[in-house]
Formats: sequence, C-alpha cells, structure tokens
Amino acid sequence: MADTTTTKQTAPPNFIRALIEHDLSSGRLTQRSWAGRPSDARQPASQRDGAGIRTRFPPEPNGYLHIGHAKSICLNFGLARDYGGRCHMRFDDTNPVKEDQEYVDSILDTVRWLGFSWDEHSESNLYFASDYFQALYDCAEYLIKSSHAYVDEQSAEQMRAKRGSLTEPGEDSPYRHRSPEESLMRFREMREGKHPEGSMVLRAKIDMRSPNLNLRDPALYRIRFAEHHRTGNQWCIYPMYDYAHPISDALENITHSLCTLEFEDHRPFYDWVLERLAEGGFLRRPLPQQTEFARLNLYYTVTSKRKLQELVSSGRVKGWDDPRMPTLVGLRRRGFTPGSIQLFCERIGVSKANQWVDPSVLEIALRDDLEPQARRATAVMDPVLLEIENWPQGHREACEAPWHPQHPGWGQRQFHCTGRLWVERDDVRAAAEKGFFRLFPGNRVRLRYGFVIECRAVDVDSDGKVLRVVARYFADSRSGTAGADSYKVKGNIHWVSVDEALAADVHLYENLFTDPQPDSGEKDWLSLINEDAHRLVKAWLEPSLAKAQAAEHFQFERLGYFVADRLEHSTERPVFQRTVGLKQASR
Ligand code: ATP
Ligand code: MG
Repeated sequence: MADTTTTKQTAPPNFIRALIEHDLSSGRLTQRSWAGRPSDARQPASQRDGAGIRTRFPPEPNGYLHIGHAKSICLNFGLARDYGGRCHMRFDDTNPVKEDQEYVDSILDTVRWLGFSWDEHSESNLYFASDYFQALYDCAEYLIKSSHAYVDEQSAEQMRAKRGSLTEPGEDSPYRHRSPEESLMRFREMREGKHPEGSMVLRAKIDMRSPNLNLRDPALYRIRFAEHHRTGNQWCIYPMYDYAHPISDALENITHSLCTLEFEDHRPFYDWVLERLAEGGFLRRPLPQQTEFARLNLYYTVTSKRKLQELVSSGRVKGWDDPRMPTLVGLRRRGFTPGSIQLFCERIGVSKANQWVDPSVLEIALRDDLEPQARRATAVMDPVLLEIENWPQGHREACEAPWHPQHPGWGQRQFHCTGRLWVERDDVRAAAEKGFFRLFPGNRVRLRYGFVIECRAVDVDSDGKVLRVVARYFADSRSGTAGADSYKVKGNIHWVSVDEALAADVHLYENLFTDPQPDSGEKDWLSLINEDAHRLVKAWLEPSLAKAQAAEHFQFERLGYFVADRLEHSTERPVFQRTVGLKQASR
C-alpha cells in the first residue's frame, strides 16, 4: 500500500507544498510504476510506486556543499519525509573535468550529518548520473533517428554567431537538414573517438527563432577526451547538463524536480526532452515536473563553489572546513549543529523571491538549538590576575554550579575558589565609568557561585591596559549561604582559580568578509576579506572541562557557545572553537 497517508505537516506551508498537495489529491501521481531502481520505459515495471512523491538532491561533485545547498537538502529530503515519499541522493556527474571522488565522499558524509538518509523503506536511493550514460546515449540515437537532433560540424564560433540574441532570431546551421542517417553515422563516429574535441556536437532540432534562447537548438553532446572519475575512459562524448538532468529525473521516477530560479528559462527544454522521449517509448508517464525556487544568499560571505575553491587554493583559509567558511564542513567544525541548520532552513522558508539573509538569522537558530542542550562551563578568554588580599593562606573553598540551569538532573560541576583568580580583562576598569558596574576601585561585585569581593586597586600599564587587580572578599557572602542575600551588588563576573585552571587554545571568529555582498557587481571580492576574521587566544578553563569530549558543545557563561574542536581537541591540549556569542554583535 502506498504510504502517502503518513503525511505529516511539520513545516510552514509554501507554494511547493501547495503544488504537491494538489498533485496528490488530483490523482496525477497515482498511476506510477517503479521497477525498484532507475529504468526506462523499455524495461517492464509492473510494480506500483509505493512512494507518494519522489524528489532528489542532485549536486555536482565538484566541490564541498555550502549553506545554500543545505536549503535544497532540507527542502527535498523534508518534502519526501512529510509526504510519504523518497528523496534520492544523485550525483550529477556528467562533466568529467571538474569532478572527484573526494567531493563525492564529503557530500555523502555531510548529507548524513545533516540528518537525512537515502536508505529508507527498504530502498537505497543513491545514484550517479554517470550510470545513465548508456541510456542517455540510446535516447540520443532515438532523437537523431526521429529527426529531433542532428550533428552540427560548425565551429563553436560559427554556432555562437548564428545563435542570435534576445532581440534577434538565430539562423539555421547548414547541417540542420542533413539526413538522420548521416547524423547517426557521425554521432557514432564521435562516440568511437574519430573526431577531435570541438569539431562537432550533437544538437536538438527545435527552433532557431524561438524567443527562448535555450530552445535554439541547444547542444546535447560534446566530445571530451577526459577521464571520468567513475567511468574512466569508457566515453569520449559527454551529455550536457540540460539534456542529462531531465532524463535522469525521469529514469528515477522523480515527481517533483526542484531547482533554483536560474533554471526557469531552461524548463521548456526540460519538458521538450521529456515529451520527445515519452513519445518515443523511452520514458514513462507521468513525467517529472520542474519547479523553481529562490537561491539562498548569505550576507558577508560568498557561496559560489569557484570562489570557495579560490579561498582554499590561495591559502586565504586553512581548508574547506575552515570555521570561517560557509561550507557545511566549515560550519560543522565551527560548532553548528544539524538541528540549527534545519531550523534555519525551516525559518527562511521557500519562495520565488530573491533571498538575501543576514548571518544573524543563522546564529539565532543556532542559539535556539544549543541553549537547551549545551552544558555550562566557565572560561576566561582575556585573563588578568585578581588577588584577594584577605584570603586565608592556602585555603581552598569548594564551590559548585549547575551543568544546566534548566536541567537540575544533570547535576553540578565542582571547582574551588582560592586567593588568586583569573578574571576577564574587560570586567575591570582603572576608574569608575558611567554605566559600568563591574570591577573598579571601591566597587563590589559577585564572583559567580562564589563570594562578593570589593576592588581595592587596579594596576595598569602606560597605555592604560589592566595588568592586575587587588580585592578583598567577604567571608559570609558565599552564594547559597544564609548571609549572601544581604550583599546587594550590580555586577556579577565569572572567574577561574589560578591553581586549577586548564590552559586552552580558543579560536575566535568574525565574518569572513567586511562587505555584505562581496561578490556582487564589479567588486574586487578578494580585497574585501576580513583579515581579522580569525583570532587565537590563550584562555583559562574551569577544571571540569578536562573531561570535555571532541565535538562537545558548551555554553561558556557570559561569553557564548563553544565547541571542543572535533579534530584537534584532546584532554592534554584542549582546543575550542567559538561557535557564536551569546548576543548579537553589533556591526
Ligand atoms: P555553484 O553554482 O556554487 O557551483 P551549483 O548550484 O552549481 O552551485 P550544484 O552542485 O549543482 O551546485 O547544486 C546542487 C543542488 O543544490 C542544486 O539543485 C541547486 O539548485 C541547489 N543549490 C545550490 N546552491 C544553492 C543555493 N544557494 N540556494 C539554494 N539551493 C542551492
Ligand atoms: Mg550546478
């Protein structure tokens, strides 16, 4: 039985959901058969397709996925989940030149990390468009035989010159009216490697006068003597993306082929290919339907794969997973969670309107996701020594704090207060300032989970930088004891005892670019890099963090969310990444 009845509405409505719901209720999709794997209409597929809908995520394995891809992943896998469907993981690997196994592995790992699976309902829907090379070739022969395609031997330059423009119609190629037999012979020679690259292409025969340039006899196949990462040297002709994509969708029984808006003008060709091949008995109906949605663009970064590649290869970042990068491996390293990215994608929604989103929207989703799950701890990022002059020699006072204020069941973390503490330099001033309630001579503050202290003196250097603080403490003011409430103070600061503090490397990040739209217009985008986007500080951590595991998230109180680095952190050498501050930094 079809499992379309499991439909559950978790995400807000949008035009794509409306379309799917319409298609499901109209019965347009009910008569689909499925052979259990991709196939064309020449093979029998008597089984009814049990999936309500089929969507696909079709990256080209020529780079690492970025936050824009997350929108497409969450959309396609999310729709399949919500409408009793399947989402296929398909590599659009028809261009041999730029693709690589390294990218395939990383993409699979990232989609899994985001929480999605192509292995469900006893189906394994992992596909490679290169597996369809033979089917694509057979379809091309059919198009030639039925006079819908021809081999054009004009040079690329001649073809370009005859293509016309938005205001002028194109001109027919002199090869357009050659016989199907002649085209077929040439096409087979192309396949056999008898002609050099660029000497000829296979073109669809549609309309050189069409107002849509994509219908002016677009190329279907070109010659490329290149080794493909999966098919090696088996082929020396490769299908064009616009030809391979609709056929791949149809072979996989995709019902809704969702792509970004720049493909809107390609849709008539998408439909043309499918109609011709359904007429020829190669593809089953109902045919896939293409629907476009707006790309996600994030301010203060770039998401073009070519530009991300350039950042990596020029050494401006440390790699694809540099925490400053908008790649999903970069965001993961930085401490973003799959839940936060899913939440973000849900919140930004899907529409046809050009979408520019501020990174703060992503950061808010991240805080919302981490707040209930991140354990609390204390760290001092910019340490300055505080000495308590009336502290009893050698005394250690046991203190404790909850691992999480809303989860008492998680227990308490233990640490000690002593006469020498690390406090945050920014919590100290040499003299009183308006609106400043923390440490300055004469003022009292509470050491969180400890005592009230009164600042006695602040040492500064010739530039006014705070070097040392001297204070006295009130022995009856300890948090949680009877006398504590009689002390009224406005400031509340975090601290770690010098005796038991753990040294750690902490990486701090800002936006990678100083300009909100570095790659728009004519800007020299590389000159807009924020050179201060990464800073390494030597911090002091509370002792309980000795047990932190790699990739574990914490909220460092008053500072933000941090993650123990998934690759470099160890108990002997703690390394943390600052994922995001507690509050939005003002720009
Ligand atoms: P680039 O132009 O950076 O190379 P791409 O669109 O060519 O990116 P693909 O690997 O072809 O990258 O993308 C796979 C899928 O992800 C496509 O369906 C594409 O529409 C979608 N996608 C890519 N970038 C974005 C984005 N910024 N917002 C939403 N979807 C995106
Ligand atoms: Mg692409």
